[in-house]
Amino acid sequence: MTPLATSDAVLLLGAGPVGLELAGEIKAAWPATAVTLVDPAHDILAGPHPSQFRAELRRKLDNLGVELVLGAPLVADPPTPSGVRAPFTVTTGEGRSVRADLWYRCHGAAPATGYLRGDLAVARLEDGRLAVTDELRLSGSATVFAIGDITAVPETKLAKAAELHAEVAAANIRSMITGKGGRHRYRPAPPGMSLPLGPAGGASYNAALGVLGADRTAELKGSPLRLDVYRARFGLHRPTDSTRHDRGQDMPASPR
Ligand SMILES: Cc1cc2nc3c(=O)[nH]c(=O)nc-3n(C[C@H](O)[C@H](O)[C@H](O)COP(=O)(O)OP(=O)(O)OC[C@H]3O[C@@H](n4cnc5c(N)ncnc54)[C@H](O)[C@@H]3O)c2cc1C
Repeated sequence: MTPLATSDAVLLLGAGPVGLELAGEIKAAWPATAVTLVDPAHDILAGPHPSQFRAELRRKLDNLGVELVLGAPLVADPPTPSGVRAPFTVTTGEGRSVRADLWYRCHGAAPATGYLRGDLAVARLEDGRLAVTDELRLSGSATVFAIGDITAVPETKLAKAAELHAEVAAANIRSMITGKGGRHRYRPAPPGMSLPLGPAGGASYNAALGVLGADRTAELKGSPLRLDVYRARFGLHRPTDSTRHDRGQDMPASPR
């Protein structure tokens, strides 16, 4: 049994997409569980997101009963390991106490690029991401490409972006091999994100359409979790009802 099922109070450190989505999933599955999100930043969801998107998410988190403790770094991390059920109390720099049975680290993911050596390491920026040209060549290299989350392309890090990077890099490699096809350039995607808060909640932002509500968010991501997209890509069949453990019944494939 997951430690979540036996916890009355959960602390999530980090109010980025991971912390927010996890808060929504916990509240959807165990509505009576107290969920507190703590972040040193003064608002949720760092990055170039419009303020009305953040406001909509804050409103929905409030409706779910998720407590936000923002602008409040902890004096010290909890004394127990992340993901292990063992009651504890932590204190913020302003002296506020938060008691919980379980906590999860929802911050601190870093690109794994430390293996680059020699000339290739020159493209490695201070935060571990890799500088690339608009053809997605590693900065300073004509024949090495980088794609996906490890790149410093200025856009939201998304699977969809990684897929589009792959198409551009593959086209450039094909041109190099055949001597035909010219150079292909990648244009960073405009800001956009689907952020479910449980299978039927949350909000999305799309540069052309603005802020989208819970129904559209559930349709785009919260309910199918993009499983249909990947099933189609890998030629897999949906599981039968007796073996099904996922969401996505009767949902259309997500465009992202
Ligand atoms: C909670 C959450 C929700 C998300 N929701 C969405 C969403 O709704 N839509 C969306 O488009 N995106 C979403 N994303 C973002 C998406 O998951 C990433 O943008 C995407 O996975 C990036 O793909 P990638 O191939 O660049 O990196 P990854 O998926 O991280 O894959 C990198 C792989 O390389 C491996 N690796 C690392 N080092 C080495 C090495 N030295 N040699 C070989 N292999 C190595 C890793 O083990 C890993 O398997 C979400 C992410 C999170 C965390």
